[in-house]
Amino acid sequence: MYDIIIVGAGVNGCFIARTLAKYKLNILVIEKESDVGDGTSAANSAIVHSGYDPHTGTLKAELNVLGNKMYPEICKELDVSFKMNGSLTISTNEEEDKKLDELLALGKANGAEVRIVDRDELLKMEPFVTKKALRALYAPTAGIINPFELCVALMENAMDNGVSLHLNEKVLKVEKKDDFIVKTDKGEYSAKVVINCAGLYGDDVSNSLLDEKIKLVPRKGEYYLLDHFNEPYVTHTLFSVPSSKGKGVLVAPTTSGNYLVGPSSNFIDDKDDVSTNNEILTDVVKEAYRIVDNIPMQYVITEFAGLRAYHESNDFVINEKLKGFINVIGMQSPGLASAPATASKVASMVARDIELVEREDYNPIRRPYIRLKYKSNEEKNKMIKENPLFGKIICRCEEVSEGEIIDAIHRNCGATTVKGLKKRLRTGFGKCQGGFCQSLILKILARELNKDMKDITLKGEASYILLKETKGE
Ligand SMILES: Cc1cc2nc3c(=O)[nH]c(=O)nc-3n(C[C@H](O)[C@H](O)[C@H](O)COP(=O)(O)OP(=O)(O)OC[C@H]3O[C@@H](n4cnc5c(N)ncnc54)[C@H](O)[C@@H]3O)c2cc1C
Repeated sequence: MYDIIIVGAGVNGCFIARTLAKYKLNILVIEKESDVGDGTSAANSAIVHSGYDPHTGTLKAELNVLGNKMYPEICKELDVSFKMNGSLTISTNEEEDKKLDELLALGKANGAEVRIVDRDELLKMEPFVTKKALRALYAPTAGIINPFELCVALMENAMDNGVSLHLNEKVLKVEKKDDFIVKTDKGEYSAKVVINCAGLYGDDVSNSLLDEKIKLVPRKGEYYLLDHFNEPYVTHTLFSVPSSKGKGVLVAPTTSGNYLVGPSSNFIDDKDDVSTNNEILTDVVKEAYRIVDNIPMQYVITEFAGLRAYHESNDFVINEKLKGFINVIGMQSPGLASAPATASKVASMVARDIELVEREDYNPIRRPYIRLKYKSNEEKNKMIKENPLFGKIICRCEEVSEGEIIDAIHRNCGATTVKGLKKRLRTGFGKCQGGFCQSLILKILARELNKDMKDITLKGEASYILLKETKGE
């Protein structure tokens, strides 16, 4: 019997697990994929928004502003890449300019730090914005984060503090007897409290238990990802003025020095369809050119899509319609920015159902990743002397050594797939997109996990990379 079962290990499930790990509780997280953070949390703009645009009084507004304030300290504790680079929402015509004043008022009402900058100041702050820019709304507390690292770090720290994680296990339904019974494709478990963080599939989990049915609709966002390059480029997150479709298109740096251009915003039917479409991406770039004159599209290394879990309220759905069953779904943007505050809110809801007693041995600090790339030559030499595998570079684009890969495999919530390593260490993230290092990584994963190379997958399930031996047939 568990005190708490959390369904889904996206950023919300992981944050809630880590927040509740402070207490003397027996917690299980069940995730259908082969790794944490593989759903919407893996494909988004990665912006810790300041909270200036959700409508005042919504959960989005409340939790975004609070979450934004919590991130810097949490990222320090967990050694997660985060930078408060500030955002600029740029007007280029009279209508948009009027909208900026509305956003300023909204931001202030929400408690976000915002001010208007005129054209001269804007061009000084960010020389890459379009010369057609009129003014901008500046939000200095907006930040950029690495969402993959974040989910892994949260879960690793939760597990360091006693939380259990079941990967590759799908929750089929939740029933209420004396306690809750969570039925999966591998077994069944009982729990006093169930927290539904199943992202796009949160409606299925909720509808399996509650009479009041809900529906989540996928709203796709497509992006271009640009490589890192040496010339100076945008340093702030640059937004076009938002519309009813969403926050608008952005051009933004990422924590790893790449650049994002996107996203689009289109309702679709298929909750698993993360394909990209040339026509849509062409429109995205057209929109991005309205705020930045020069987008170096020659540096595009890949394109990708993420799916927002839209609910008709257009707000987060965080409720407890049946005592002990908590929904945390419909988490569209700014769900990532809000996640720390969402977790605190959920912890206070849980406190009404079961007694929360703090653990004396709770440790909020996660052991940092090694990150050889950022060490001085002196430090590198010392490490290589102690362990020669730090001198064996496996991913040349991102400069990742075998020693670091082995460390990332053997931690709590360690990598078990090629994509799992990519998320943790950026192996295969560079220009060659794994062309050179994938075979080496496959070998290391097989050796360290004591598996046959044919059983190592790209990202779990049937995503096999090696199908059969070809030599000698
Ligand atoms: C295009 C786009 C851009 C965005 N940009 C931003 C941004 O810049 N800033 C921001 O704050 N927010 C942004 N968001 C929103 C943010 O990404 C989401 O709010 C957040 O990632 C949602 O996290 P989650 O944990 O609720 O869901 P998910 O990350 O989807 O996690 C749900 C998990 O549940 C698992 N699951 C589902 N069903 C089951 C089951 N039956 N059994 C077991 N496991 C199950 C899934 O596999 C998944 O891992 C963006 C979203 C999109 C799509």
